[in-house]
Amino acid sequence: MPELPDVEIFRRYLNATALHQEIETVRVHHDRVLKGVSKATLQRRLKGQELDQTSRHGKHLFAALSKKGWLMLHFGMTGFLRYFQVEDKKPGHVRMELLFTNGYRLAYDCQRMLGQVSLVKDPYTFAEKEKLGPDALEGLDFDTFRTAVSGRRGSIKSTLMNQEVVAGIGNIYSDEILFQARLHPAILANTLKDKDFENLYQCMDRVWKESIDAGADPEAMPDDFLLPHRSEEESCPRCRGPVKKIKISGRSGYYCPRCQKKDRGQRTDDSKKQS
Ligand SMILES: [Zn+2]
Repeated sequence: MPELPDVEIFRRYLNATALHQEIETVRVHHDRVLKGVSKATLQRRLKGQELDQTSRHGKHLFAALSKKGWLMLHFGMTGFLRYFQVEDKKPGHVRMELLFTNGYRLAYDCQRMLGQVSLVKDPYTFAEKEKLGPDALEGLDFDTFRTAVSGRRGSIKSTLMNQEVVAGIGNIYSDEILFQARLHPAILANTLKDKDFENLYQCMDRVWKESIDAGADPEAMPDDFLLPHRSEEESCPRCRGPVKKIKISGRSGYYCPRCQKKDRGQRTDDSKKQS
């Protein structure tokens, strides 16, 4: 499922391909992805406009229309963008596409159709309306992060995944951030100490930087990332112990029981021994 780094890569892709070109027509192949806008309205509002700039908040991508308003794209479980010219480059599950006057198209592909295409006033108003927390990358300072997370009941993993707390973290990247921070996913958010938050914040920062640098491609990520080893068949890239699966808030997460101990005292002792 596309999370913050994936959507940031989509944003950069859109910037590098589809900006400042006149939209000739819009094809909607499946209405189910449209949210709060009809096919006819989307087509009428986009025709003759250009995408001027982009913005991202959490897992939502926004493209400013040259006249007024923003196109909003959410990628659900399986969504992505493809810019192409010839039909054989068209991906297999295109739900909506913008056709530009230069002969190129921007396709929104979303196989499972859990994503959304909409027209919104602006990203800020949208985030407020949807009660999205601060974006987990852009302008999230340490104090805001600590305040947002520390007052929450529930596990640290489910708290990080809660879009009202911080926006952009899902199942996969919450696992990665917690693995890097050596925190067990089931630790309660409101039991974390200041140094845990500092550690968590720094690890999150590094995870964003490295994953975006890697183009959000698991194969291109650093050797000490858990992300390419999300299976109980795999071993921990740090201690070589077995990777374990854990169910939290209905999602299957992965962690290393040796590196991410639930007993806080034990974890501290272990990290002392190893350092
Ligand atoms: Zn380990």
